[in-house]
Amino acid sequence: MPTALITGITGQDGAYLSQLLLGKGYRVVGLLRRSASADVIGERLCWLGILDDVELLDGNMTDLSSLIRIVETVKPDEIYNLAAQSFVAASWQQPLLTGNVTGMGAVNMLEAARIVKSDARFYQASSSEMYGLIQEPVQNEKTPFYPRSPYAAAKLYAHWMTVNYRESFGMHASSGILFNHESPLRGIEFVTRKVTDGVARIKLGLAKELALGNLDATRDWGHARDYVRAMYLMLQQEVPDDYVIATGRTTSIRDLCRIAFSSVGLNYEDHVVTNPAFLRPAEVEVLLGDASKAKKALGWEPETTLEEMITEMVEADLARHRKRNGL
Ligand code: NDP
Ligand code: GDP
Repeated sequence: MPTALITGITGQDGAYLSQLLLGKGYRVVGLLRRSASADVIGERLCWLGILDDVELLDGNMTDLSSLIRIVETVKPDEIYNLAAQSFVAASWQQPLLTGNVTGMGAVNMLEAARIVKSDARFYQASSSEMYGLIQEPVQNEKTPFYPRSPYAAAKLYAHWMTVNYRESFGMHASSGILFNHESPLRGIEFVTRKVTDGVARIKLGLAKELALGNLDATRDWGHARDYVRAMYLMLQQEVPDDYVIATGRTTSIRDLCRIAFSSVGLNYEDHVVTNPAFLRPAEVEVLLGDASKAKKALGWEPETTLEEMITEMVEADLARHRKRNGL
């Protein structure tokens, strides 16, 4: 039975990836950062009904000793490094923490693997945010990077270190440059989930309006369930490499609102207001990915449309609020 170690197992992708790997017969071990609120930390794994099927070990991305100990104990065949301070807006408030966790944390994990088990296959969660101020209208693996936030700069460092460990030490280290991907398990602060949660609250009469920032930015949004499949496929290849994972369709926040509100018969213009508090010091205006390489080499295809995903997210948020409010 192959063993996978997942950092960031309590996050959106960690939960879906665990589900995928368990279904393939893997032993799944996750790194858990200790919290005083341990009772709520497995919420996403619980939602998927797999909390009892994974093993969780205490550690932290900023503590190399904990990572070394975990790799020694677990002896993973595959390491998926998903842990990060992943929210772009927060990275201006906590640039150093973001650098330490999202950037240096990845290098800590690479080092732990190199020192203890250098034949483990390694996946790094790189991001389309690295393209930032886009240098080409459609971004692929050859497009130059131009990070626009402390988050993106930290991700770019981790990305190049992954390439560097592959080239320097011959490690099987691959990097997935994933465009935005969402699901009912997406953090509530990200715009898709903020919108679907807002739609649910407004539909149920629990709120009247939803305050957002820049409605004109566009993103290439896919479903997390489809995207974790690409992570797995990358580590099954004989030769490690970097791949863009995207849908090839970009949609504005405004159109996202239109789709989400109309899915429950509401007009977004009656409810969405803008608030400068949600604008960013520097914006990534457009992201649009070309996943041709992954489609060809990995046989990967996205299976969920934006409309299907938004409907799933709105329904999940309606169910959550009905339960919470006894409706
Ligand atoms: P989430 O924010 O949902 O999950 C982040 C995970 O990292 C959580 O499990 C969190 O633990 C953990 N974590 C944070 N800090 C530490 C730390 N110091 N030590 C150990 N664990 C820590 O992210 P997603 O699942 O959405 O994304 C997965 C990865 O992919 C991230 O690296 C993200 O930056 C990257 N990515 C995501 C994209 C997306 O659209 N979702 C796009 C491109 C890249 P806790 O639960 O305790 O907070
Ligand atoms: P990101 O692409 O990783 O930064 O994902 P987000 O979901 O956080 O943001 C996507 C886009 O939505 C960015 O261009 C934001 O500026 C824009 N946006 C507009 N209003 C909001 C908001 O209220 N919250 C968030 N998170 N993003 C918003």
